[in-house]
Amino acid sequence: MARGRVAVLTVLAVVAAVAPLDMSGSERARAVAVCAGAVALHVLLAWIPTRWPKRLLAAVDVALVVDALTIGLLALLSGGVDSRAVWLLPVLCLAMALTLAIWSGVKALILSVLVAGFLTLVEDPAVPLSDSAGPIALAVAVVVVAGVAAPVNERKLLESKGRMEALHAASVAFTGADDEEALTAIAEDAARTLLPGWDVVVRHGGDEAPVTERQWRAGGRAFFELPIVARRQDGGEQASGAIMASRPVGRLGRTFVRRGWVLELRMLATALSGALVQRDLLRRLEHLSMSDPLTGLGNRRAFDEALAIETARARRAGGSMGVVILDVDHFKQFNDRHGHQAGDDALVTVAEVLAREARAEDRACRIGGEEFALLLPGADTAAAAAVAERVRRAVEAAGAESAGVTVSLGVAASGGDDPRALLQSADARLYVAKEAGRNRVVAA
Ligand code: GH3
Ligand code: MG
Ligand code: MG
Repeated sequence: MARGRVAVLTVLAVVAAVAPLDMSGSERARAVAVCAGAVALHVLLAWIPTRWPKRLLAAVDVALVVDALTIGLLALLSGGVDSRAVWLLPVLCLAMALTLAIWSGVKALILSVLVAGFLTLVEDPAVPLSDSAGPIALAVAVVVVAGVAAPVNERKLLESKGRMEALHAASVAFTGADDEEALTAIAEDAARTLLPGWDVVVRHGGDEAPVTERQWRAGGRAFFELPIVARRQDGGEQASGAIMASRPVGRLGRTFVRRGWVLELRMLATALSGALVQRDLLRRLEHLSMSDPLTGLGNRRAFDEALAIETARARRAGGSMGVVILDVDHFKQFNDRHGHQAGDDALVTVAEVLAREARAEDRACRIGGEEFALLLPGADTAAAAAVAERVRRAVEAAGAESAGVTVSLGVAASGGDDPRALLQSADARLYVAKEAGRNRVVAA
């Protein structure tokens, strides 16, 4: 607002200086000085207000008083109530009511009446105020019209509030979504609200993500593309997808997305990008916390989780579930004889055998130093024992080529009873296998 006022006052100063008005040289000089003084005051006001209590500023509106006084002084210098400068008063009211609010318009109106009354008094106390009725009537009309037009502004405000709400709702929904598809669907919904009348698609993943924002027109349609960008750790940026929109346009139709809308879409893209990065990190963290770095199998936590899930499923479906616990034989000796590295290699070999023998629905995990477990959904004791025997032989065969690693295995199955009891009985049978001489399967 300050900039607009300074521009208007500058124009007024130029008019006062050179326009063919009925003014003497000294009057012109004073008019220019009044404008310059008003400019200085406005610049000062624009600079100070942040420190002023807001309430005081709203109640008085010092800038408005400066405006009214400036116009009054200019009118006084150029012919009083008859001066054309008086007509600046309704213009002031119009500017206030339209650019700020109806209450600013009313304030401007009151000030205008006061200024006009003052001018009338100064000129000749005998002349009635009705002499300046023209500008005052116009000012009243302007404020009334602006008051009627204000609801239009309000509609715009409401619309913009709705858009902000959509943006906020999307940001909240992002925090609760647990996969990329859900995240992009939320973003797509929000983008449709933010771009009424446009066909919107939000894409994520794939190689051809756009790197820059662009708008173009082709074949009777307008297109808009906004990359979903994430900052990499090295400081660079990486586009992982895009908000894309298009709509048919006539010859005279609006081709481009409004600037305000683009800004909102950028905010949406940034929120989506943040949610995607977070999802990614969470998934990596989950994977790290569930996997064994040496063998790549699931760890104890992963096994416990899978066991709980499968137990519940077996109980619901009335099916059976097998568990095999495997322990490397004389592994301490093996380590002592061949070294820790060879021991690690042997563990990897056992893990490879387990992964190979397990079906897609089975779960092989390393649950301790040289202890592994295999969860076999749907398997009864006999089926689980058969798998265990295949594993034992495969490890023996692999071990025969290297340093002769063998394993002992305990097998148990249940119909969804207490998973701890199931593990205990598999463990007890593993102990029996060890006692019986190792390199064997015990299932009963
Ligand atoms: P048993 O046949 O009775 O199972 O005898 P064992 O020697 O295998 O049993 P014990 O529990 O006494 O020893 C387990 C050994 O496994 C001790 C430990 O050094 C070794 N071990 C545990 N984790 C690792 C590992 O990650 N890498 C290697 N190389 N060795 C490990
Ligand atoms: Mg052991
Ligand atoms: Mg052992």
